[in-house]
Amino acid sequence: MSRIVYVNGQYVPEEEARVSVFDRGFLMADGVYEVTSVLDGKLVDFPGHITRLRRSLSELDMPSPATDDDLLAIHRELVARNGIEHGMVYLQVTRGAPPDRDFAYPDAATPPTLVLFTQSKPGLIDNPLARSGMAVVSIPDQRWARRDIKTVQLLYPSMGKMIAKAQGADDAWMVEDGVVTEGTSNNAYIVKGNTIVTRQLGPEILSGITRAAVLACAREAQMRVEERPFTIEEAREADEAFITSASTFVMPVVRLDGQEIGEGRPGPVAVRLREIYLSEARRAAI
Ligand code: PMP
Repeated sequence: MSRIVYVNGQYVPEEEARVSVFDRGFLMADGVYEVTSVLDGKLVDFPGHITRLRRSLSELDMPSPATDDDLLAIHRELVARNGIEHGMVYLQVTRGAPPDRDFAYPDAATPPTLVLFTQSKPGLIDNPLARSGMAVVSIPDQRWARRDIKTVQLLYPSMGKMIAKAQGADDAWMVEDGVVTEGTSNNAYIVKGNTIVTRQLGPEILSGITRAAVLACAREAQMRVEERPFTIEEAREADEAFITSASTFVMPVVRLDGQEIGEGRPGPVAVRLREIYLSEARRAAI
């Protein structure tokens, strides 16, 4: 059975899905996206993802492709049609396909493009990396300056992943002005004693939906949270480290630039937060 995807109002087999060569998402990375996890056939943190999508669209003066209710209905329809138990729904909106390539935005005659598809990941919760912990390397942050907008310009994060792979690591933490911004596709945290440290929100990082949920869980569990920048040196001396994202939840980090963090295995704070977050996320999924 071929996967059913959604393109501009229609549910079609993936082989039949078409987007124009003039689409500004393709030509100019003029598009925004969201990734929502699916657990037990239900959407995790969906209101947060829709709120961030609205903000990304508004920061870029991009027209809205559908109402919140319609977007929820499309997500659910794709999960049902593709029989997704654990996995994700990817949503992308672009500024559409004007008749000619032009740097200026097209007028209202060009509707936005809306594409959604699912990816099944049966092992999403039981990820072996959660038991072993991840290795990360540090790289300079060479992305544009509006990382709070979730755009599809993902070339530098892809390069970062490849730099990490080439060094036998799983991901890269990006460093700017001497402090860590975030991972290539996740938010970054260190733990010292009972305190969790993660960079404060701002244009330098994406406001992770999982970040917000995990920090709420941490505060609820009486853990201390400091939202401030930290350096690679501070991370090297931390007791633990971890990342968060919609597809990894809470994932321990046990090596940084080839050196062990703490005892070199997943620490108690990361392990506990993963458990708390996962049970809360599954309970609240819609
Ligand atoms: N930062 C960046 C750069 C990301 O790409 C992502 C994942 N899209 C995140 C953080 C984590 O965000 P979320 O928890 O909403 O998946």
